[in-house]
Amino acid sequence: MSALRRRACARVQGTVQGVGFRPYVHRLAAELGLAGYVLNDAHGVLLEVEGEAEAVEEFLARLAPEAPPLAMIEHVEVSEGPPLGDTDFVIRASPRGGPVDAPVTPDSATCAECLRELFDPGDRRHRYPFINCTNCGPRFTIVRGVPYDRPLTTMAAFTMCARCQSEYEDPRDRRFHAQPNACPQCGPSVRLLKARGGEIDVADPVGAAAAALREGQIVAVKGVGGFHLACRADDQPAVARLRARKHREDKPFALMCASRADAEALVRLGDAEAALLSGSERPIVLAARRADARVAPSVAPGVGELGVMLPYSPLHHLLLADSGCTLVMTSGNLSDEPIAFEDEEARERLGRIADLLLVHDRPIETRTDDSVVRVAAADHPLFLRRSRGYVPAALPLPEPARRPVLACGAELKNTFCLAKGSRAWVGHHVGDLQNYETLRSFTRGIAHFEDLFAVAPELVAHDLHPEYLSTKYALERSGVELLGVQHHHAHLAAVLAEHGDPGVAVGAIFDGTGLGSDGTVWGGEFLAGDLSGFQRVGTLWPVRLPGGERAIREPWRMACAWALAAEAPDLPERLAPFVAPEAWAQIRRLAESGLASPVTSSMGRLFDAVAALCGIRPAVNYEGQAAIELEAACETTERGAYPIELAWHGELLQLDPREMIRSLVRDLAGGAEVARVASRFHRGLAEATVSACSALAAAASTDRVVLAGGVFQNRRLLEAVMTGLEPLGLRVLLPRRLPIGDGGISYGQVAVAARLT
Ligand code: ZN
Ligand code: ZN
Ligand code: FE
Repeated sequence: MSALRRRACARVQGTVQGVGFRPYVHRLAAELGLAGYVLNDAHGVLLEVEGEAEAVEEFLARLAPEAPPLAMIEHVEVSEGPPLGDTDFVIRASPRGGPVDAPVTPDSATCAECLRELFDPGDRRHRYPFINCTNCGPRFTIVRGVPYDRPLTTMAAFTMCARCQSEYEDPRDRRFHAQPNACPQCGPSVRLLKARGGEIDVADPVGAAAAALREGQIVAVKGVGGFHLACRADDQPAVARLRARKHREDKPFALMCASRADAEALVRLGDAEAALLSGSERPIVLAARRADARVAPSVAPGVGELGVMLPYSPLHHLLLADSGCTLVMTSGNLSDEPIAFEDEEARERLGRIADLLLVHDRPIETRTDDSVVRVAAADHPLFLRRSRGYVPAALPLPEPARRPVLACGAELKNTFCLAKGSRAWVGHHVGDLQNYETLRSFTRGIAHFEDLFAVAPELVAHDLHPEYLSTKYALERSGVELLGVQHHHAHLAAVLAEHGDPGVAVGAIFDGTGLGSDGTVWGGEFLAGDLSGFQRVGTLWPVRLPGGERAIREPWRMACAWALAAEAPDLPERLAPFVAPEAWAQIRRLAESGLASPVTSSMGRLFDAVAALCGIRPAVNYEGQAAIELEAACETTERGAYPIELAWHGELLQLDPREMIRSLVRDLAGGAEVARVASRFHRGLAEATVSACSALAAAASTDRVVLAGGVFQNRRLLEAVMTGLEPLGLRVLLPRRLPIGDGGISYGQVAVAARLT
C-alpha cells in the first residue's frame, strides 16, 4: 500500500533564470524522492513534482526559502493536478517561440564555495583567477546578446575542456549551465605587462603583480567591469605618484581590503554598512574613517570618510591575499575620462600612469564602474552611484507603461532607463556626458539594453535642457514621440515611483543645476506634485552665477554673488589669501551687471559660497568638493543655527538666507571657528527646510515629503532634516535603490512618461 500520491505544479516568477534555479530544483526534488520536470519559459520557471504527499508538501515549503543566492523570487503560484505516474525528475528544454524573459543578471562576487576551491591546493582550480559557478561570477559585463548562453558572451572564444563540459551538463553540479565556466586548461589566463610594451615572463603573474604592489609600484588591473589602478594604500609616495600621473588632485581614492576586519580597522561600520560591504554586489561603501586609520594622507584629503570595498573577483582575492596589504583601487582612467575596459586602449591610456599592467584575455563587453553607497539615518542605503553588481536588475514601475519607453537622463552622472510593461531597467553609470567617449558609451549602452530586454522605444523622455547631449540624442531619434520632463520633477517622480506612487507629495529637491520651466537655472526647489505634474511652491532666493559655468569650478565667485546679495560685498578676510581685490571687484561688477551671469536658485551653489566664505575651498577640482569639505569641517557639538527667513511671495515660499550670510561673514571676520560656522549653516538650513516642508505639506494636504537631489548626499543635512520632519507627523520618502543625485533622473523620467501616455 503506497502512501498518498500528489502532483503539484508551480510557476515561479522573478529573477530565476541564469541563476542556477533549475539545477537547484532538480537537487531538491532528488533529495525528496520526487519525479517531474522543471523548465525555463517566457514567464520564468515552470515545474511539476509528483510523489508522496508529504514530500511534495516539504518541497513546496522549501522551494522559495532555500533558492540559490542570486535568485530573487517575486511570486510562486501553486496548482494541483492528477498524478501521472512519472518516475524520474528531468530538466526539460525551454519551449520554442515567444519572447524569453531576458535572464541577464548583475555581476556577482565570488561565492564562498568557489573561494574555498580557489585557495585549496588540491583543487583543480587552485589559484585560478577566473573560477566561478552558477552562484557567482561575471554576468552583465560579459553579455553580448540574448538568450544568455555562452556563444553570446565574451567567453565564446573559449571551448570548455571535457571536465568543464561535464560540469556544465550535469544538473547536479554547481556549474550546470554556468556560462562563464572555465579552468586553467581551457579558460582565460592572465599576463603581466610592462607599462611600455613587453610581457614579463613569469610563472605566476598575479604573484608577481602582488609583489610589485607591495614594493610601492602602481599596477593597472583588469577587473570585472574595467581597469583599476592599484597601489598600496599606506604608501604615501606611491599614492602621491598615482595622483600626479592620473591628474587627479583631491578626489578621494577607493580602497580594497582583504576582509571585513581589515576594513573595520580603517572605518567605523554599522550593521547596515557591514551588510552592504559583504553583499554579493560588493559596492564601495563610504564610512566614517577612524582617526588611527593606516592610510596615506593622499588617499582622501579633506574628507571625513573613506570608501572601502571587499574583493569581488577571484583575481582580486588572489591579489589581496598575495600582497598582504590594503590597496588603493581607483578607476583606470585619466581624470574625467571614462574607465578603460578594452585591452589596447588600456595599454595606451594607462601605460603612462601604471608601472605594470595585469591583463587577461576575457573581454569586457560593457564597462561598468564600481557602485558607491553610504548609509544615512542609521540604516538607509543612499546610492551615490548604482552600477556594477546592481545593473541590470529591473525595478518595478507603479503602473505599466502602455508603450515601450526610453529615458535619456540628465547630463552629469548620467544613466539611461528603458521600460516595458511594469519593469524598468536603469542602465549602468555612464558618467558626465561631456566628451566623445562618454557619449559613445551612452549610445552603445542604450542600443545594448534595447537588444537585451527587447525594448523598441516608441516614446523618448528627456530633460528640458536643450544643450545636454542626452537631450540632443533624444531629439535626434526618429519615429518616436518625445516628452520633456523638468529636471526636479524627475527627481521627485523617481522617488515617488520607487515607493509605489503614494500620491501627491511635497519634494525638497536640492541640487546643483537643472533647467527650470521658467528658463532659469533651478536647484533649491520645493515642488508639490505627483507623477503627472507639479507646481513649484517654494524656492531659494535667486542670485547671479557670475561668469556662468566658471562659477561652478570657482566657488569664490559664488561667495561674491552671495555677499553682494546680502549687502556685505567686501572681500572677506578668509578669502583674501586666495583672491586678489581686483578680481573680487571685477566679479562683483559682473554679478551686479548680470552680464554672462544667469540667475540661479541653486542650493549646491549656496554650499559652494559658504565653503568659500569660510576659506575652505575657493576653487574645486572635483564636483561637490566644496560641499563635501564643508560638511567634513563641521563641529559636531555645536547647537547653534543661523536662521533662514521664510517669506511668501504670492503662491511661492522663498527661503532667504541673506541674513544668514551677513551673520556668518560677521562671525568669520570676528574670528569665529570655521567648524562652528559650518555647523550653524547646516543646522540653519535644515531648520528652514523642515519649516518650509511642513508649511507646504499642510498647504498641499499631504503628509509625504520627498528629499532628493545631489545636495542630500550630505549626511549631516539629510539626517537633520529627517530628524526635524518625523516628529511633525510627516513621512519622509528617500530613494532606496537608485542614486539620490542625477543618476536617478532617468527612472523618474520613465515614471512620468508611463503616467502621461
Ligand atoms: Zn561560485
Ligand atoms: Zn576546463
Ligand atoms: Fe539634479
